[in-house]
Amino acid sequence: MTEKRDYYDILEIPRTATVEEIKKAYRKKALEYHPDRNPGDKKAEEKFKEAAEAYEVLSDADKRARYDRFGHAGVNGTTGSGFGSGMSMEDIFSQFGDIFGNFGGFGGFGNFGGFGSSRSGRRTNRGSDLRVKVKVNLKEILTGVEKKIKVKKYVACTYCHGNGSENGDSVATCQTCKGSGVVTRITNTILGQMQTTSTCPTCNGEGKIITKKCPHCNGEGIVREEEIISINIPAGVTAGMQLTISGEGNAARRGGIKGDLLVVIEEEEDPNLIRSGNDVIYNLFISFPTAALGGTVEVPTIDGIAKIKIEPGTQPGKVLRLRNKGLPSVNGYGTGDQLINVNVYVPETLSESEKKALSQMQKSSNFTPSNAAKRNVFDKFKKMFN
Ligand SMILES: [Zn+2]
Ligand SMILES: [Zn+2]
Repeated sequence: MTEKRDYYDILEIPRTATVEEIKKAYRKKALEYHPDRNPGDKKAEEKFKEAAEAYEVLSDADKRARYDRFGHAGVNGTTGSGFGSGMSMEDIFSQFGDIFGNFGGFGGFGNFGGFGSSRSGRRTNRGSDLRVKVKVNLKEILTGVEKKIKVKKYVACTYCHGNGSENGDSVATCQTCKGSGVVTRITNTILGQMQTTSTCPTCNGEGKIITKKCPHCNGEGIVREEEIISINIPAGVTAGMQLTISGEGNAARRGGIKGDLLVVIEEEEDPNLIRSGNDVIYNLFISFPTAALGGTVEVPTIDGIAKIKIEPGTQPGKVLRLRNKGLPSVNGYGTGDQLINVNVYVPETLSESEKKALSQMQKSSNFTPSNAAKRNVFDKFKKMFN
């Protein structure tokens, strides 16, 4: 599995790079890791995809701005701005193919073996993406966590190494399309001859056919299996966020490109703490005597118990703040706080002696609210409702 790298690092450019510099850097990387130059090299393919992803974001002013502010989370949300769902080789060529066109000297870059379906005709299979949900609790969000999850997915058949043919060599060029993957038909119409091109029906656009199928996978090159995948979930994630783990989705039929694994974050409800952005809120109940006399109380935090001091004369509705006891932002910029909302508990039933003691207090003028206390509540509500 791959941890997402910084887009600027991938293209080896400073954060101040101009549009032209970004384009130039991408061209350089794309050529270096081009599948034609690195046939069968999975690492190069990953690098090639990675560079395309970095370029897709940094070449778009709006996405770049969001990336600069929020990091990967800013451009990789649930709505999937193109990249949430990952990009296949075909996408890359169809979207950025023209960038290679500027390399006059290299020629033929519009037509790489098997990629860019609409151009060359031959189709490369791509495995479908898999989506899994992963539940994390506040403590895990605080520190980040490695989760091992079981995923049922298509993997390459080990008997035929994914190519679908028995012994690995029973493959022949498709005679219908002569290996091009497309068939061209010419029809006569009143406007003259019309040429239509469509995917070869014999080989489904693959350009080759299997003469003797692998019995283990029935010629598909893939089998369904359960795999345990370990996923690194960064600190600070929020519910609905989606992590893309490229190449961990379904394997493609007959040795194509693997799909991606999309991990959707879900949040486990905490029994005590309510999350609000990077802050967490705790509702504290103290007794009337503690509010009046002051004291020390224990409050649960994300990672343990904190002791806090209650000042004598604390009013209900007072909010105390434990700095940096909230959650870190997913990009590592800053940490939230824990807010403690103080409630004063009024007993719902009383014993006879308690009644007597309270009746005694009721007579004291000191139990009438002060102007300062009234003013505080007035101001608070004015702020809340204006
Ligand atoms: Zn064919
Ligand atoms: Zn097989």
